[in-house]
Amino acid sequence: MEDCIFCKIVRGEIPCDKVLENDRVLAFRDIAPKAPVHVVIVPKAHLGDILECADKANGLSINLIEAAAAVARAEGVDATGFRLVVNTGKDGGQSVGHLHFHLLGGAHLADTL
Ligand code: AMP
Repeated sequence: MEDCIFCKIVRGEIPCDKVLENDRVLAFRDIAPKAPVHVVIVPKAHLGDILECADKANGLSINLIEAAAAVARAEGVDATGFRLVVNTGKDGGQSVGHLHFHLLGGAHLADTL
């Protein structure tokens, strides 16, 4: 769990281009952006995926949603729109086993998911 790449970013062992940080959440620019604005929003605590987050029922889901809204405003895509994506598991295309939201915007995104 502690070898997790996003845990290392949270601990400052791997650098990131930070967009937002509070006591529970860190948001940083994706290293391989898929849109002009592509920010990854992660809980500081290691949680494998959205299911684990929901099971814990500790309010973190709301913290993540509120952080996403703050990032959208900070990045200036709140008025133009954006997409929040939470890839989960093998079929969902999740490649990093630490829960994260992708916030994508800054251009008209593909009409298909
Ligand atoms: P997913 O495929 O949904 O698990 O998304 C993982 C995302 O993490 C991908 O979009 C990667 O580009 C991104 N990523 C991986 N390593 C880093 C890193 N060191 N800094 C920023 N983003 C990263």
